[in-house]
Amino acid sequence: MSIAARQGRIREELRGQGLDAVVVTDLVNIRYLSGFVGSNGVLVVGPTSLVLLTDSRYATAARDQVTDTDVVIAGRDLLDRLAETVPRGRVGFEAENVTVARRDRLAARLEGVDLVPTAGIVEGLRVVKDPGELDLIRDATRIADAALSELITRGFAGRTEARVAWDLEGAMRDAGAEGASFDIIVAGGAHGALPHAVPRAVAVPPDTLVVVDMGARVGGYASDCTRTLCTGTLPRALEEAYAVCLEAQRAALAACRPGVHSGDLDSVARGVIADAGLGEHFGHGLGHGVGLDIHERPWLRQEGGEVLKTGMVVTIEPGIYFEGVGGVRIEDLAIVTDDGCEVLTGVPTDLTTTTI
Ligand code: ZN
Ligand code: ZN
Repeated sequence: MSIAARQGRIREELRGQGLDAVVVTDLVNIRYLSGFVGSNGVLVVGPTSLVLLTDSRYATAARDQVTDTDVVIAGRDLLDRLAETVPRGRVGFEAENVTVARRDRLAARLEGVDLVPTAGIVEGLRVVKDPGELDLIRDATRIADAALSELITRGFAGRTEARVAWDLEGAMRDAGAEGASFDIIVAGGAHGALPHAVPRAVAVPPDTLVVVDMGARVGGYASDCTRTLCTGTLPRALEEAYAVCLEAQRAALAACRPGVHSGDLDSVARGVIADAGLGEHFGHGLGHGVGLDIHERPWLRQEGGEVLKTGMVVTIEPGIYFEGVGGVRIEDLAIVTDDGCEVLTGVPTDLTTTTI
């Protein structure tokens, strides 16, 4: 779907919701609808026009980047020029992105406009990816796979968790990525029991598991993959946890298809882990959508999910964590297809022993 097509779709949404315009403030949504990549912008989507307000730092870049969008260079406060770009009537704003203070400033500058809080108008379009977006996510996945495969071959010897994380990011940048798609996690031993562990300046210990969670960013699009590597002879609890986690992950991948509610998919993996008596050790959701944001709709968890559709891109990432001992998480990135899902991640998920 071209940017022009996205603009057509958002206008349909506006009509459907009885809105005369929407003021888009989420920068990722602005990028999706206009092509603008910058840190300061407000996009006004009206019935026949799109207007991007940005500041002078982005004057040249913005005009190069946008499609079918007028660019207005505003002062320090972009909202100062808002009134001249917003039609009268019912005007939506992104309630989940606008602070109370900014909402008050919007209201002050748009006297006589009926400001309507909206939620998820643009995110609802972003949830199903078009072929161009899928190509970028595939590229990002390939680059991350190559960096991870190199780590598996080379091992951890002589490097700290932090060094390994930095080297992974460097390898992905060398291969053409814009960077890592989020702060890479390398967490050995007991540290791996923290799902969002921060890499430390310590060596990876022997005879344990190491959680490596990483991804690349290409053309603005993210990839996301976790492998849990073995560094010798595992304690029985961790060996069993790995086998159960892998069974849960494979069961969820096998059940991932259009028409399935994401909460039910979460239940598939959760059921496998619960049946093994480890339910209390799987505290987070099964996965999430991936696109311009590393975490976006659809949410694969018990609450707040949605029915999966062809073209969604999701992670499947059950985890089992033992406080003070270690953790395992196995995460693949997959595209929902007409008859199931296509796993993008190419690194094998069988337990792999790596040198330290
Ligand atoms: Zn991840
Ligand atoms: Zn993830």
